[in-house]
Amino acid sequence: MIDKETTKARYRAERDKRLRADGTAQYHRLAGEVVADPYAPVEPREPKTDHVTFAFVGGGFAGLLTGARLVEAGVKDVRIVDKAGDFGGAWYWNRYPGAQCDTASMVYMPLLEETGHRPTEKYAHAPEIRAQCQRIGQHYGLYDHALFHTEVTDLTWDDAQSVWRIETDRGDAFTAQFIGLGTGPLHVPKLPGIPGIESFKGHSFHTSRWDYDYTGGDPLGAPLSKLADKRVAIIGTGATGIQCVPHLAKTCGQLFVCQRTPSSVDVRGNAPIDPDWFASIATPGWQQRWLENFTDNQTGGFATTEDLVQDGWTDMWRRVRARIENIPAEERDLAVIVEALEDSDFEKMDEIRARVDAVVDDAATAQRLKAWYRQLCKRPCFHDAYLQAFNNSNVSLLDTDGKGVERITETAIVVAGVEYPVDCVIYASGFEMGSPYTERAGFDLVGRESLALSAAWSDGMRSLHGVYVHGFPNAFFVQATQGAALISNVPHNYTEAGRSIALVVAETFKRGASRVEVTQDGQDKWVEVLLAGGPRNLLSLPDCTPGYYNNEGQPLSPAARYAVGYPQGPAAYFRYLEGWRKSGAFEGLAFE
Ligand code: NDP
Repeated sequence: MIDKETTKARYRAERDKRLRADGTAQYHRLAGEVVADPYAPVEPREPKTDHVTFAFVGGGFAGLLTGARLVEAGVKDVRIVDKAGDFGGAWYWNRYPGAQCDTASMVYMPLLEETGHRPTEKYAHAPEIRAQCQRIGQHYGLYDHALFHTEVTDLTWDDAQSVWRIETDRGDAFTAQFIGLGTGPLHVPKLPGIPGIESFKGHSFHTSRWDYDYTGGDPLGAPLSKLADKRVAIIGTGATGIQCVPHLAKTCGQLFVCQRTPSSVDVRGNAPIDPDWFASIATPGWQQRWLENFTDNQTGGFATTEDLVQDGWTDMWRRVRARIENIPAEERDLAVIVEALEDSDFEKMDEIRARVDAVVDDAATAQRLKAWYRQLCKRPCFHDAYLQAFNNSNVSLLDTDGKGVERITETAIVVAGVEYPVDCVIYASGFEMGSPYTERAGFDLVGRESLALSAAWSDGMRSLHGVYVHGFPNAFFVQATQGAALISNVPHNYTEAGRSIALVVAETFKRGASRVEVTQDGQDKWVEVLLAGGPRNLLSLPDCTPGYYNNEGQPLSPAARYAVGYPQGPAAYFRYLEGWRKSGAFEGLAFE
């Protein structure tokens, strides 16, 4: 029997010792050489000064999914622009050993059915996901117009010509009738604010710029053989750290895992996908059915739905539903649901903590690896080799008791007053979140009447569906906020946004219009719908340990009330959007 009050008190105590006044300001953005592309040389090319129908900023899933749907709708000149050397977005940059999707490939990897690819594993590894991005690019001819190693510096609406003017750091100055923005939430790597970090004289790099020349090995899993005689520290135990550690543990002479907050590490249960089984289920429309099933199983309400994916994400809601099914329908009020959520969470986290004891041999290390917070306070992790790595004699957990690494010197890291000499420091310290959109994107958007996006959103985001913004004709935002806001399977958000955008562009042509924009009224009404759901950020529950989900535990700005999704949840949003598209009314939009 779980003692809820004692557990809650522990959660609060663990949170309190991690709270720090500097919040997100504790981190530093990486800049200059250290963020240069280590994977592909920058090819010289002539600047572009032409016109395309559609320009898209970002060559990750958002750009690929939107580009694919536009091509299907007959737009042949989609130009995707990305600072990376190829398609892939996060999967271009994150080639660290062990990188793997945390959401089942069948629903996570985009456009499987269209490209005819069968995932090889339940949770595909990064090289396969990146190859799928390239496959999409080839299948839809998106390479023909793409510009890589190119950063957009300026995006301005030309009202007289009804075009967007786009400038880049490669001297391009071209126009596009429509633009899309899919710069992603996790593309600006950050470093922890550890005193002395700049004084370190050994080797160091961020996980999103993995230095295989130094470590040996490769993203396919070859051993990191050059680390055999090295003392390595990895700082950060989030979703990235969890995946790298087992690979480092196999080869490093000595590995120090520096932990500030333990992640919850549930069972992974990866397995190859059987081709015969896949052939039996891959009937027309299969991926859309799987996508909807995965979302329904987490956010679709209480009706029992067959669970196709069967994993840690659907398990969370399966537990809640099992509790609620026992309660008569007329008694299922909000309080009952909140309690069922809480009880399921206590049960789940207790199991996850018990797993640490079962796996880790050293009892003291096991204690320190236990996560004391509700599962969705931090990104849930799933792995079957991470905890096991702490049984290796060359691996030491340096737990900082919530305080972080104390100092870095020229030759060592310092934790709790003890110096640990190291040859290499690997920063698994994550990506900038919570900064204004235009700061992370690296450019502002200047719309009608010189309205800048940073000004339009200065006191919070406003949009229709998270996609269309008043004052910015022919511009589409491909991201999850103010739409489904589904976090367990981000590509599903983009799949649906891409569909809508292609339909709206096709409709613009059909009507002989040159521009489309959400009306002020259409935008206001959507924002009203969103706010009517009240504050409901499950990710920033009061007792949550600090992290990027909850603004590092600092009070949320007034603008944060707009950072929400559809009040009835992702499954309901996708159904609503399907209806919106099918109605043909394009409610909220004006074509001119
Ligand atoms: P995170 O921001 O999740 O983790 C950063 C880590 O660095 C945390 O453990 C943090 O500790 C630690 N840290 C920060 N400052 C210090 C310090 N001063 N001393 C010691 N430790 C410190 O970054 P990740 O790259 O791990 O993950 C980012 C996101 O990327 C994930 O949440 C997920 O959305 C996505 N991702 C997805 C994957 C997938 O689907 N397969 C794989 C990897 C990432 P603390 O927790 O205390 O802040």
